[in-house]
Amino acid sequence: MTTFKNFIGGKWVPAKSGKTFPDLNPANLEDTVGEFPASDAKDVDAAVAAAKKAFNGWRLTPAPKRGELILRVGEILTRRKEEIAQAMTREMGKVLKEARGDVQEGIDTAWLHGSEGRRLHGFSAPSELPNKAGWTMRVPIGVAGLITPWNFPLAIPTWKSFPALVAGNTIVLKPASDTPHCSHLLMEVFEEAGLPAGVVNLVHGSGGVVGGALVNHPDTRVISFTGSTAVGKGIHADAGRMLKRISLELGGKNAQIVMDDADLDLALEGVLWGAFGTTGQRCTATSRLILHKKIHDEFIHRLIERAKKLKLGPGLDEKNEVGPLINRDRVKAVDEYVKIGKKEAKLLCGGAPATEGALAKGCFYQPTVFDGVKPSARIAREEIFGPVLSVLTVKDLDEAVGCLNDTAYGLSSSIYTKDINNAFYATQELETGIVYVNAPTIGAECHFPFGGVKDTGNGHREGAHPVYEVFTEWKTIYVDYSGSLQRAQIDNRKKGE
Ligand code: NAD
Repeated sequence: MTTFKNFIGGKWVPAKSGKTFPDLNPANLEDTVGEFPASDAKDVDAAVAAAKKAFNGWRLTPAPKRGELILRVGEILTRRKEEIAQAMTREMGKVLKEARGDVQEGIDTAWLHGSEGRRLHGFSAPSELPNKAGWTMRVPIGVAGLITPWNFPLAIPTWKSFPALVAGNTIVLKPASDTPHCSHLLMEVFEEAGLPAGVVNLVHGSGGVVGGALVNHPDTRVISFTGSTAVGKGIHADAGRMLKRISLELGGKNAQIVMDDADLDLALEGVLWGAFGTTGQRCTATSRLILHKKIHDEFIHRLIERAKKLKLGPGLDEKNEVGPLINRDRVKAVDEYVKIGKKEAKLLCGGAPATEGALAKGCFYQPTVFDGVKPSARIAREEIFGPVLSVLTVKDLDEAVGCLNDTAYGLSSSIYTKDINNAFYATQELETGIVYVNAPTIGAECHFPFGGVKDTGNGHREGAHPVYEVFTEWKTIYVDYSGSLQRAQIDNRKKGE
């Protein structure tokens, strides 16, 4: 059994308490990946102190040089892609094809932000006064606390850490305790790439203890969090009181609309991938299917036929299409929602944990579909985060759009239609941060902004350039080379003007 460590100030160290927790394979709970440090506030103090000490040197390292180190990280990730994907499937459960995609997203993110080191643009503008110049530049904020979930155990830490580092911040990463190994591997990659000691730090442990200490530490000036809306609201309150920069990427209750003129084959492939890919454990997963009443019966018939045939099993076996849920607590939570659903709507397939044969050793759940779901039903409104799809029926596009928008969340949406007017109208009216036309609700690319509206976040975006609004401050510089005092708004106006 391997015992893993935290990474603090360039050294691998155990938790100060010496305590550990096990990391289990959700496809087979008898398989333990390793023991990880059950850290506490003292370990967070040490990591933040190391990051603070490293900040000045890193801040003064030219941004193109910082970017080059991230490009080197991308090269190492490329070399280790298969090994990390296999480790991810063992630790998190997603099928190998998807785990490779998760690592690839990290690689793509390295190419994007590594090259951003040579841009990181500010802007200049003419001054209103003669012989005076003005321009802006982005400057780093300081120590960034990064708190990540388990569902994209490599990609999400890279979405946060690469732009944070290219911008000149130092980081302390707190990954989900269900997926510590993937973050351990990312730290190994940072170490091999040659990031200076203290620039990247990793502290394992529970959310309340380690995450809470990071959020409340006076020296973490940025908190970037991805996880549930309930935890995100608490972090917003705590870090907000300390006037920290806070980026929150939270839950979703995403829907796919299928209009009566849609390509039904395409829409069917889309919903199967969106609802049951990653076992429904994506923040962008398709949790609601909104069907035009004219195609309802035919579409449902085809959907159920295919959903029943999906092959469940350990993701390391490439024949399997749907892996396990992340842990037994999630099986219980999904099953609670399914019990509620059985009272609210009509169960068409699935509806129970999958326990045949070797599946009993893991956390498998049958792909589940409910029909006749009312917009007011809890299974239509609350995030389930599992392989459960709620089907609602509508009479026209306006009702479909109203139904899709009738949720507290606003991350991703999709519409399948061949009518160009309906498609454009939907992109205008759907209240989500991401809208897909003739594609499922999942499938974001790292060079576009990622995030949502309403209870999905606090307005920040990851990906692309907007992420630098999270990790930088603007500095505005004025240089007056007139040799005299020039008062803006005053000296360039005549009396009465
Ligand atoms: P979670 O909120 O339980 O945990 C997320 C992270 O926060 C973990 O590292 C956890 O240890 C930590 N944490 C827990 N309590 C904390 C506290 N009190 N203070 C500080 N940190 C704490 O979420 P999860 O179960 O890991 O992930 C699933 C959720 O994440 C879903 O709601 C999903 O929609 C959301 N998610 C959102 C996005 C997005 O970009 N919008 C992406 C992926 C997942």
